[in-house]
Amino acid sequence: MPSQAVIIGDSVFRDGPGALQAHDSFRASALLYDELLNKLDPFKGNCTLIPAREEPSGTARSTGVDADTVMDAVSEAVKKASARDDTLLVVYIGHGMAWDNLNNSEVHLAMYGSREERPWSWLPYSSIRREMMRKQGGLRIVIADCCYSNFLHRQGGTADDAPENSFAALDKANGTAVFTAVDPEGRDPKAWPKGCDRLSERMKDCTHFSGHFLKVLSEGSSTAGEKLSLGDMRDRVVDEMYQCQAPHPVGGLILRGLGDSVPFVQNSLPADVPRQPPARITDEDWITALRTGRRWPIKPLLDKPDQAGRVSLSLWTIPEAHENASRIDREANDAYRSDPRKYATYWYIRDGLAA
Ligand SMILES: [Zn+2]
Repeated sequence: MPSQAVIIGDSVFRDGPGALQAHDSFRASALLYDELLNKLDPFKGNCTLIPAREEPSGTARSTGVDADTVMDAVSEAVKKASARDDTLLVVYIGHGMAWDNLNNSEVHLAMYGSREERPWSWLPYSSIRREMMRKQGGLRIVIADCCYSNFLHRQGGTADDAPENSFAALDKANGTAVFTAVDPEGRDPKAWPKGCDRLSERMKDCTHFSGHFLKVLSEGSSTAGEKLSLGDMRDRVVDEMYQCQAPHPVGGLILRGLGDSVPFVQNSLPADVPRQPPARITDEDWITALRTGRRWPIKPLLDKPDQAGRVSLSLWTIPEAHENASRIDREANDAYRSDPRKYATYWYIRDGLAA
């Protein structure tokens, strides 16, 4: 059975007291995810858009997204993507909310009938998560383009001493990845519904996060192979969002039970375009590249024993980067074995003695 993508995004909300603000960018983003993912493996031909595209014959507009429709579509996708090789992807673009006195600030997603300060009119994220957990093997990915997506970091608890059937334990066993519209390590929960002016015509109608994400989906990456891994995707999106200099939040990726080298989606860049590893020049370039645990080649770094020593020393201060730090130490020992000066330089700096 095939991989499946469920894409949820509408711009229409119920009128009346507590009505949510409508943003055209929600729907525009959903339409573009549907268009692009339908061209890329493994989701080609296996996307469900909610609400569905309007028929060209001009049938009446749908009556808005409700929890039933969303959950039925997710359930159906879980059934279809049941094989171990299948990926299950859920994309949500819209309002997100969390109330600090409700279920440990659980994130809630806006449906057509949702209203401010009425949590019962929203879809709790745990409903989607619970349904996705029915897929026992293979990859589960969420793209959460909404406010409070950074709160998804802490939801479900930690895997240590979690009950066997808890989300945390299942995450650890099967793996879940969540792309978030705001920095998962950050405190500010606000995503921007408005588009980024620096993007092309097509992308700037989307939200700032989806605009950048969709740009990477559509253009691919010259630093990745045939497929973009989760880490390739995150790195491109995060780099772009930083470099674009618009003052919008920068998104991120939450990984549970997975490494970031897991393949995600086909790279749009044609296979005959030459690939090149990104240029890394400053200490900061290297630290940024290696801090997330990605196994970038470090041979060019070892050409400069002083820089390699400084980078390793810094990486040892970042828990997620310990594996890369120890890799540099190991490869440095090998590389400098026949050159006592380089060996001494490296370890003098690496041990913090140069400070
Ligand atoms: Zn931007």
